[in-house]
Amino acid sequence: MRLDLTNPGAAVNTTQKPAVTERPTTTAVNPDAVASTVKTEPSAVEQLHAAEHPLKRDLPEEMLSPKIIALMNSQTKAAVAEAIGGLMEKLLPTFEKLAAPSPKETAELQKEEETKKRNTREWESQKVQLAETKLAERLKQKNCSHLDSNGHERLNCVSNFPDHQKRAFCSGCALWIFPREYRVLPPTVRTIPEAEGFIRELIRQGEITGATPFVDPKTGVTTHMLVDEHPLYFRVKAIESRNAMGII
Ligand SMILES: [Zn+2]
Repeated sequence: MRLDLTNPGAAVNTTQKPAVTERPTTTAVNPDAVASTVKTEPSAVEQLHAAEHPLKRDLPEEMLSPKIIALMNSQTKAAVAEAIGGLMEKLLPTFEKLAAPSPKETAELQKEEETKKRNTREWESQKVQLAETKLAERLKQKNCSHLDSNGHERLNCVSNFPDHQKRAFCSGCALWIFPREYRVLPPTVRTIPEAEGFIRELIRQGEITGATPFVDPKTGVTTHMLVDEHPLYFRVKAIESRNAMGII
């Protein structure tokens, strides 16, 4: 650093590079003016320039103030957001179109829905029809004497069951007369209370007169029930006795 004799009080860089904070004074070139006044006011043009370019006054051109950087950042963010928003607005109808089912898919879904409804209706109808048929059959079996008009048995003995027990079938009312036998419980019935509920329902429908749940000792699951013999099973025994004695 050295003192600039032409401009007392101002520091000058030895590398001769003009300091960025320095502003040339109009009075520095005239020694007489320096002697007469310490510092003169800037001209009107300079004041106007300084007022129009306040940020450039004390900063180099290649350097941006934090305020300018923040402004540029916010403007960049706004521009990017606007660009993405515009792009999304253009693509949104395409996305909605892709997400919506095609006419073919809509038709298939509608067809599937109609099939489900039809199956449900048919199943309900079949259940009602089955219940009516069963009720009519029970009524017929209840009123049947299992004898023909001549007083002969209409019960036919069947002996080819796996447990070798005799059973009888009425040709008049399609009644099966069964002995004390094991029957498999449905898979949904797994505990004794469930089995007892299932048995109560069978008794209510007139299928059986009573049964005992059987629990598998290995798994602890009720798998079978031991059904009491049919109330008319004594007739099967009587027929078998007569057959054994050769009496038809
Ligand atoms: Zn009968």
